Amino acid sequence: MLRFAPSPTGDMHIGNLRAAIFNYILAKQRGERFLIRIEDTDVARNIAGSDKEILQILTLFGLLWDDLVYQSGNFPYHNQLAQKLIDNGKAFYCYCSKDFLESKKQEAIAAKQAFRYDDSWAEIEKDSGKSPVIRLRKSLEPITYHDSIKGELHFAPNELDSFVIMREDGVPTYNFACACDDMLYDISAIVRGEDHTSNTPKQILVHRALGYEKQIEYAHLPIILGESGKKMSKRDSASSVAWLLEQGFLPSAICNYLISMGNHTPYEIFSLEEAIAWFSLEKIAKAPVRFDLARLRFVNHAHLSRLSDSDLALLLESSDESMGKLARIYLEEASTLNELRDKISPIFSPKDISTLYEGQDFSQECAALEEALRTIAVNAPLEYESFKDQAMQASGLKGKGFFKALRILLTGASHGPDLSKLYAILRPHLREVVVCVGS
Ligand code: GLU
Repeated sequence: MLRFAPSPTGDMHIGNLRAAIFNYILAKQRGERFLIRIEDTDVARNIAGSDKEILQILTLFGLLWDDLVYQSGNFPYHNQLAQKLIDNGKAFYCYCSKDFLESKKQEAIAAKQAFRYDDSWAEIEKDSGKSPVIRLRKSLEPITYHDSIKGELHFAPNELDSFVIMREDGVPTYNFACACDDMLYDISAIVRGEDHTSNTPKQILVHRALGYEKQIEYAHLPIILGESGKKMSKRDSASSVAWLLEQGFLPSAICNYLISMGNHTPYEIFSLEEAIAWFSLEKIAKAPVRFDLARLRFVNHAHLSRLSDSDLALLLESSDESMGKLARIYLEEASTLNELRDKISPIFSPKDISTLYEGQDFSQECAALEEALRTIAVNAPLEYESFKDQAMQASGLKGKGFFKALRILLTGASHGPDLSKLYAILRPHLREVVVCVGS
């Protein structure tokens, strides 16, 4: 079984979505189940509703799960397993207070040494009446594991001390809950962010202590850098999946882009289904990757172009296929749904002809043409050439003045795609489109 294990602590980051996509693909490639495990153990950091948002995003991206669990539902198992470790001597109670540990930390800093917990401290404060935490006994052996992206990773025994697996309130720590659940659900491979690289040896230690021998495959994805070259933080808006969707990027394009980041893919533009056929974790570069919004725009444009007219129309909340045709024309100059909306909505809004276009006043030409169009638009359908000839004649306009006025009346802009193409689509809607204000 593969799993994606988000914490319901806020807006979904693209790094998390990338991990979800990769785990999903591996599950499909291997014919294994895909589990979503909501890691809600850190009660103070949980944000109400964030789990639902994560599930909505996964659904929107087509990352459908076979099983869904909330980690807090497994607390009884975590407690049983911690008790088992106490019973077999692999874990022990520690009564140290925060103050005591802090003073030891300060001593280590003063001695210019790395702070490591010393097992002999466990019971020094036993009589204080404080509830103990449970710590897993440290390993005397080095821990080595193979990472599908980073290669062999080694951790010397002194890099890991006896770490807390159960807090004093009986709630498991992330590393313990995660390791127990990966064992309980028979997880075969784990793809997650690079920030977890140093958690993995701890989780392996938990498995060893529990006598669990299954070799799990690990892959830690390189961090995503913002356009500034620094780690992409929550403050970079493009790091939020919800923000990208709000900007009018398609899930299929975001997915395509996240799969191709720091990767060698056989095609530039592909669907999630297609990627299942050839995706390989081994091809992912070890180096951090920089988020490139211009590249995402390019990919999004390609995905929009692949859609049928009726799908384009639906995405623009219209059931009229001509809206899709219009969108296709405007793909000449737009790469996101929002940009398409920004181009298309002025077409169906009243045109303020008193506005200056490129610093020039076309109000007189527009007014003359609007009046002329009232006399001929009823004779539609006319082909563009005859429409244009008649409109020129009726308005007495010609050349630049005529064409600018026509474009402004049709689109609300003085620049844009070929007028004959636009006219062909707008012809049945001329009455709605040619509505002016400000004359
Ligand atoms: N809840 C952890 C996170 O969101 C899970 C990491 C993991 O996949 O183990 O970072």
